[in-house]
Amino acid sequence: MLGSKNMPWRRLQGISFGMYSAEELKKLSVKSITNPRYLDSLGNPSVNGLYDLALGPADSKEVCSTCVQDFNNCSGHLGHIELPLTVYNPLLFDKLYLLLRGSCLNCHLLTCPRAVIHLLVCQLRVLEVGALHAVYELERILNRFLEENADPTAFEIQEELEQYTREILQNNLLGSQGSHVKNVCESKSKLIACFWRTHMTAKRCPHCKTGRAVVRRSTTAN
Ligand SMILES: [Zn+2]
Ligand SMILES: [Zn+2]
Repeated sequence: MLGSKNMPWRRLQGISFGMYSAEELKKLSVKSITNPRYLDSLGNPSVNGLYDLALGPADSKEVCSTCVQDFNNCSGHLGHIELPLTVYNPLLFDKLYLLLRGSCLNCHLLTCPRAVIHLLVCQLRVLEVGALHAVYELERILNRFLEENADPTAFEIQEELEQYTREILQNNLLGSQGSHVKNVCESKSKLIACFWRTHMTAKRCPHCKTGRAVVRRSTTAN
């Protein structure tokens, strides 16, 4: 079968990693884990516990109740635990901290100008299709627009940037710029790092003028 002439094939151009959403996790999950005990008094896996056979057999004596394969052939299945409260993902704690530190605890908006957010979002979108030059062009468009228009609304700024972004996305450049993927990733991290450093450290909220609240990372005692 392998190597057949009729086999569809594609050349890999890039790879990216992301986090599953709660909905995606629930779709992948074969079982909601609700039993805190993983073994019963006889040492057998408890139903709805972490050793539930729906997640795969724990040893060679058992068979998976999801795919009916044995220990050697079942690759294991995902389960999920419903949490009663919203809990932050520890992997994203650093970003959460930066977001909270850059947020106004009075009006709950980010303490950076709206134009900056629209610019960053549009820049990240054009980078998705590898259009590196559009990153600088968007910045130029924004600066020119701010020079030519006194006190534009956030919506007007957004429209101006969106218009150019849509043009770029319509002429999707991913194919022709595939070789610059590394540069695109670098540009993306540079833009985001600059956003945190330059625009999310205001002493005073630009929207409601409240002073910045102190947000600390506290270390939990074990
Ligand atoms: Zn299985
Ligand atoms: Zn505010």
